[in-house]
Amino acid sequence: MGFVAPAGTPLSLTDLARGAARGLSSATIVQLRRGLSAAGGRQRAWLASTGRAAMTLALTAMKQAAGDPRRVEVIFAGYTCYSVPASVQRAGLVPRICDVDPATLSLDFDSLAGVDLSRVLAIVSANLYGLPNALEEIESLAHQAGLFMVDDAAQALGARYRDRRAGNFGDVGLYSFDKGKNITTLQGGVLVADAGRVGDELDAVMNGLRDVRPTGIAATLAKLPVYALLLRPWAYGLVRHLPIGLGLTPWDVDYPLEPYSPALAGLAAVQLERLDAINGTRIANAERLRAMLMDVPGVTLPRVLPGAVPVYARFPMLVDADRRAEVISRLERVGIGATVSYPRALIDVPEVAARLPADQRPTSGAREVASRIVTLPTHGYAPPEMARQVEDIMQNAAHARR
Ligand SMILES: *Cc1c(COP(=O)(O)O)cnc(C)c1O
Repeated sequence: MGFVAPAGTPLSLTDLARGAARGLSSATIVQLRRGLSAAGGRQRAWLASTGRAAMTLALTAMKQAAGDPRRVEVIFAGYTCYSVPASVQRAGLVPRICDVDPATLSLDFDSLAGVDLSRVLAIVSANLYGLPNALEEIESLAHQAGLFMVDDAAQALGARYRDRRAGNFGDVGLYSFDKGKNITTLQGGVLVADAGRVGDELDAVMNGLRDVRPTGIAATLAKLPVYALLLRPWAYGLVRHLPIGLGLTPWDVDYPLEPYSPALAGLAAVQLERLDAINGTRIANAERLRAMLMDVPGVTLPRVLPGAVPVYARFPMLVDADRRAEVISRLERVGIGATVSYPRALIDVPEVAARLPADQRPTSGAREVASRIVTLPTHGYAPPEMARQVEDIMQNAAHARR
């Protein structure tokens, strides 16, 4: 039976061939950088091996730009990708968790009340699933407290908040080309920023990187056609039970800090040129799901903030915690790749908890999200009738509950 993978970007053979051909030209990486800085509404763009490498480099550049040894903490959302705290650790900084509001998945500033912001270097947004956080509010908090801000748009390339692009807020925006992101080359990370102090430090940090390992590039190039093939529902249905590490989120701080491979740049450029169409498909699928699920008892849909235009790398919904496992297995039985995305609130990840400051507040909102969230696929292989199937299953779950 076919199976709709939880996340991914469909790639055709033509995409792969055009991408590979364009990757041979040294002009491509320059064009890609130009396209990405435009996509972030910024003057400049830097490319790194992964999003987590990019995050580490951004925080390192900020540490150097601040030149203040007291500023050692980085604030981030209590429910976001594990790579964020891993990057904080890798940059030699101290994690501080901000709670999230389960109604919007955005940061809940109340949880920062009483925190001594003079010890904080930077605050990081999350924009999970392509839903913009209250970015202008985060930006003004950062501005008032004299903090740097990383606008983490790893899942939100193309999203907007109050007519500005995700990645445009604060000092540095971040995008990722990993497997489940808006566009993908299996790996890749992007920073966008304007010329200035942090940009100068980013130049310095990037210049200090060792070169890309050719073996790593060859392996990634070889995996691309496999990814493109396996994302197809008939193929994904065959392989999804194999132990190949699909969808795992392990704790890792030893990832390489390298430049992005120019050989991958062509495929990124091909997708970036089609970004509006790729996002348009995801938005249409998400709108169908929203319309179908809006009034189903036991389903809560995160509210889109006023002025936000999401791009839905996945579609999030909250269900009763004690029904979630059953809901996911019912969805999987009909071939829909529903997942819990990240299994825990970051405060409950032992590697993070061990490094938190003594006065870290509990994050009940993040725990609630971690226990209730289910994400649904939105990519181009999700069939239009999927929304109806999901509604059916959720209605049945609601009846079984009574
Ligand atoms: C994926 C992701 C990252 C890290 O990107 P990688 O390319 O996977 O290293 C950072 N932040 C968020 C919110 C992400 O989803």
